[in-house]
Amino acid sequence: MLGWWRMGATAGVLLAGLAAQAQTASSWTVKPEWVRAHEEFLASDVMAGRGSATRDEEIAATYVASEFEGYGLKPAPGMDGYLQAAEVFSPELDGHATLTAGAVTLEQGRDLRLLISSATTVSGPLVEVDVQKPIPEGTPKGAVLLSAGRMDQSQMGQFVRAGRKAGAVAMLVADGDAATALTGQWGGGTRVPVRLAETHPTGSGTNLAAVSEAAIARLHAQAGKTVTLAVHVVPSSTVRKTYNAIGYLPGTDPASGTILLTAHLDHLGIGKPVNGDAIYNGANDDAAGTTAVLELAHALASGPAPRRSVLFVCYGSEEVGELGSEYFGRHSPVPLKGLIANLEFEMIGAQDPKMPKDTLLLTGWERSDIGPMLKAHGAKLGPDPYPEQHFFERSDNYQLALEGVVAHTAAGYGTVATYHQPDDDLAHLNLEFMTTVIQSLVEPVRWLATSEFTPAWTKDGQPHP
Ligand SMILES: [Zn+2]
Repeated sequence: MLGWWRMGATAGVLLAGLAAQAQTASSWTVKPEWVRAHEEFLASDVMAGRGSATRDEEIAATYVASEFEGYGLKPAPGMDGYLQAAEVFSPELDGHATLTAGAVTLEQGRDLRLLISSATTVSGPLVEVDVQKPIPEGTPKGAVLLSAGRMDQSQMGQFVRAGRKAGAVAMLVADGDAATALTGQWGGGTRVPVRLAETHPTGSGTNLAAVSEAAIARLHAQAGKTVTLAVHVVPSSTVRKTYNAIGYLPGTDPASGTILLTAHLDHLGIGKPVNGDAIYNGANDDAAGTTAVLELAHALASGPAPRRSVLFVCYGSEEVGELGSEYFGRHSPVPLKGLIANLEFEMIGAQDPKMPKDTLLLTGWERSDIGPMLKAHGAKLGPDPYPEQHFFERSDNYQLALEGVVAHTAAGYGTVATYHQPDDDLAHLNLEFMTTVIQSLVEPVRWLATSEFTPAWTKDGQPHP
């Protein structure tokens, strides 16, 4: 427990005593039927998996907003309701694409396969590059890079990153097993990354196409000529909305800062059927985290007003690239400087076999003093046993951590078998575990909202971009 380095032995004993007290002294009981009721709604088949930026996600957000209102939370400062809408650029392609370079024309489905598309037509001079070497310094911006050599899937990823860094508008690779394996990551076909409309009004900027061996040879003869990669976007598909549900519990001392409790309310929607089930319910990922935020809101709003304010946020569009939290970070109703801590709840619906019984893992445990302090006040939290998985960097807390907010994710079973499967459903949830861990957090979070203690990063704990 590296986080304890700040405290002397006496403080440790004192805090252990507090923990024993806190476990018996909660003035609030989280009822198992409340936990089950949120899950019964959010993870039901009728919610169709709460696909990011869909009507189903909007319904889930409306449910959370309505619960916040019912508990007595207020709209956040500057908002007149409990929903924050963000436009996302989310185009669909009609499947036709054409690449022209001088005298050569390639059609999607014959010699050309779009792997990743920004859903915009791009053009630039054709530049040949050697896949084994870094992209040459003098490569003009706006080029279309052609790499003839064979590469595996991870080299393909590196090529895309290097190409984007060099300002290329598109990357062309030889078609083969690696290209097929890459598209397998998103279930085949062309991936059109979804982005916030305000940051990427014309798409993601990434274009990767695989070209047949025969066509590669023909393209080599066109080096230096202008290449145009034309795509066709389904009309009216481009801009959709995603929703964050936000509730606010005003504190009695506005200068003492705000605590942010978060989860994400979207999931994968309808997808590839597994054993005849195509609904990705996301009961654990992350209706469970949403339930934790709801029940902590319920508990805190029902007690006396805390000294600090508490902001409860359930994000939309996490599953397509953490867009809800990105938007929130750019449009927070409370200045980020005023946030003294963020706890994100992810997949708390199953007990991790490596953790003590009824205990959540907290990512980046040793990076700040918040985990040890909450634990000392009775929270069933402990160090993340999977540092190699980089959960700290892979969740919604990370963007805020980069901004300096002490932000961590609390999770149940880090590597659960139902992860991103249709059987992440009510039947595979451990509702008793959920109820126990949420209950354990009520008094510690209330304490955090009331105390003089301000969480801080440990030495070298704060991440930097
Ligand atoms: Zn997920």
